Amino acid sequence: MATLLVCSATDDLHTLQTALAQAAAPVMPDLQVRLWPEAADAADVLAVAAWHPPAGLLNTLPQLQLIASIGAGVEHILRLSDLPPEVPISRIVDSQQARGMAEFILWATLHFHRQMDLVLQQHAQRIWRMPPQRAAVECRVGIMGLGAMGEQAARCLRDNGFTVSGWSRSKHGIAGVDTYAGDAELKPFLAPLDVVVCLLPLTASTYGICNAAFFSQVKPGAALINAGRGEHVVTEDLLAALDSGRLRGAVLDTFAQEPLSPEDLLWNHPAILVTPHMASAASESEIARQIVDNLLRIRSGKSPLHTIDRERRY
Ligand code: NDP
Repeated sequence: MATLLVCSATDDLHTLQTALAQAAAPVMPDLQVRLWPEAADAADVLAVAAWHPPAGLLNTLPQLQLIASIGAGVEHILRLSDLPPEVPISRIVDSQQARGMAEFILWATLHFHRQMDLVLQQHAQRIWRMPPQRAAVECRVGIMGLGAMGEQAARCLRDNGFTVSGWSRSKHGIAGVDTYAGDAELKPFLAPLDVVVCLLPLTASTYGICNAAFFSQVKPGAALINAGRGEHVVTEDLLAALDSGRLRGAVLDTFAQEPLSPEDLLWNHPAILVTPHMASAASESEIARQIVDNLLRIRSGKSPLHTIDRERRY
């Protein structure tokens, strides 16, 4: 029987399995949705819905036609050494998730712009002191990555009065947003920013991009918001930039190891606010809808939507 295999070596995906079965039942009654490591005949598996899929599974599925990431990122799939070469890899692209990301980036920007980092320190010491205020237009925010997440965040900040710029691999045009592209324009993009936001996908070119050389190019006293992936930031270089005062503070939503260990030094740093990979998520019903829609497309001979370019790695 045609099978969709839901698999993760790290997370419990029972509720997603249920959502997928509910989405498939009315439109693909012949599809069974199995949760790895539940037994399924390998020759029946047409697609996997995966989050950190177990090594050694995907290349045992001879009829596999789709590898669906259940998140916006795909690096957890691309890092597998046994990835079948020709099977398309899709990801979730959801406008509501992008709105959620824009909310998170607006909140984190306001955290620095309205000096809540300072106010929280004052609160702990019962100090009543009004911090200086300035207009949003005087605060320059730069978004690294102008994809589904970054573009929405840039528009939201712009609409809230901030002076916004964006940096991507290819040149983008967004009304009211200054755009920069490619490695050669990273330095001029970074130089004037008060707040730098990382919303890049994790690839070989973006791994460790927020390193000592990067921090040496940001304006002294700028703040960092990372909601891309933890591996974008070189932790020791971030700590050095914070401790030297080069950077004023950081909101970090993603980490190389999640959950962040209770012993991790990042929890204790006074200039770091840790958030638990909460910036934005698509609902399980939307994830299920998109994956089942792609299976229907494949069945009717169409290409699946939101597939990634294996060369670019995103
Ligand atoms: P997209 O693939 O839609 O966009 C990626 C953007 O990054 C594009 O604008 C792309 O440029 C740019 N980019 C990629 N590589 C480079 C590079 N080497 N130099 C400059 N720019 C580059 O991704 P999304 O916007 O959907 O998501 C981005 C990431 O956000 C995800 O991969 C995920 O890691 C993270 N995320 C985090 C969440 C959270 O809760 N913390 C939730 C959702 C996503 P171009 O447009 O020119 O191709």
